[in-house]
Amino acid sequence: MSTEAKNCDVLIVGGGLAGASLACALEASGLSIEIIEAHPLNTDAQPCYDDRTVALSYGSRVIFEAMGLWPAMADKIEAIKTIHISDRGHLGVTRLRHDEEGVEALGYVAENRVLGEVLYQRLANNPKVRLHCPAQVLSLQQDEESVRLRYWENDEEHELSASLLIAADGVTSQIRELLQIGISRQNYQQSAVIANVTPGQPHQNIAYERFTDTGPLAFLPMTGGRCSVVWTVPTEQAAELMVLDDEFFLERLQQRFGFRLGCLKKTGQRHVYPLALVESTQIVRGRVVIMGNAAHAIHPVAGQGFNLALRDIALFAELLSLQPFASLKETLITYQVMREKDAQRVYRFTDALVKIFSNDFSVLGHVRTVGLLVTDLMPFVKHKLARQSMGLSGRLSKLGRGLRMDKSHV
Ligand SMILES: Cc1cc2nc3c(=O)[nH]c(=O)nc-3n(C[C@H](O)[C@H](O)[C@H](O)COP(=O)(O)OP(=O)(O)OC[C@H]3O[C@@H](n4cnc5c(N)ncnc54)[C@H](O)[C@@H]3O)c2cc1C
Repeated sequence: MSTEAKNCDVLIVGGGLAGASLACALEASGLSIEIIEAHPLNTDAQPCYDDRTVALSYGSRVIFEAMGLWPAMADKIEAIKTIHISDRGHLGVTRLRHDEEGVEALGYVAENRVLGEVLYQRLANNPKVRLHCPAQVLSLQQDEESVRLRYWENDEEHELSASLLIAADGVTSQIRELLQIGISRQNYQQSAVIANVTPGQPHQNIAYERFTDTGPLAFLPMTGGRCSVVWTVPTEQAAELMVLDDEFFLERLQQRFGFRLGCLKKTGQRHVYPLALVESTQIVRGRVVIMGNAAHAIHPVAGQGFNLALRDIALFAELLSLQPFASLKETLITYQVMREKDAQRVYRFTDALVKIFSNDFSVLGHVRTVGLLVTDLMPFVKHKLARQSMGLSGRLSKLGRGLRMDKSHV
């Protein structure tokens, strides 16, 4: 066994979308960063960067733009110009339009693989970043001065010490467990079946969010005329959908969605995710900060999970850049206080959508119809819904306001 002690400023465990975005956001701070990632990148074994998609809010575009990453993404992702929200079997429909909000797009649909390529390309060009991959965490210790992590890489045991450790290791976070930080969990008894589907007609940059008695069904516009489908169903139905052959799967999907996009022609590989609201009971413990899905994994109905994480990352990078480690305790308290409101708003919004729109009670059916009609008829309500979906409500970080974190802002 060989152990090697090194030092860095920030140690990030987990190189998924959250961990890699944070490493990029910290570039302007000049801090040295080491990333420990369990799965080899660019292989099928790495589940984070496959052909799944995330809907990026307009606010996330602003953040990526301020980080200088947007030009590398822009022509590989598709804009959402209109969001069409409807309730299967009921009358109400609401449309949110980019021109009514004065923005080029309400959001963008990006393949995880594309985001991964852009983020890792940027990290490869930053000499202050080192990636350890594949590597397994063995243990973690911390005291007043530092955090020490023992990990396994290339058949050897190593040790790293850092001023700060970020746990961005996903919903089942090992770091959270090592620190014995609890979670609160709300199971929705639903799973999301996702697939990229080619419809018969052009999607015209419209995202369809269709609420049905068994759960929401989203068709999001992708490049190449495809749509990213997120189909939420009770968990037992998800198992049935997963074993259907492509033809029967498309038939079932067509029945559920209807013919707004013509006849569905082709489907890519399907993946299934059990859905729950999982919140870490603490997001800061000493010199460790919990981020991304490790901090809060939420239902994908409103496409908010990564967008929320990116807003956390933007503020965190700003605060850490202002005063790296001189008053870390205060910095971390400020971070928690400033991010709490946004997280609570997203939990409440998402949870309410799931509960109101995923059942077949006729009373709620009327409430939904009225809700959608009212929303459509009242510009103020619509505008508020759009700002929330675009990640532009509440107090924004510098990156969130489009300000670069170059030396003049650090
Ligand atoms: C069906 C579905 C649809 C979604 N759609 C949207 C959307 O439209 N918009 C949106 O904003 N969000 C969406 N989300 C949420 C979004 O996918 C997540 O917020 C995002 O992927 C979180 O990334 P993460 O890096 O925190 O976690 P993960 O993606 O889980 O990454 C964790 C990383 O840590 C690594 N790792 C794990 N354990 C260890 C360990 N012990 N040591 C080292 N490394 C480790 C993993 O290999 C991985 O690379 C969706 C989620 C689902 C399930």
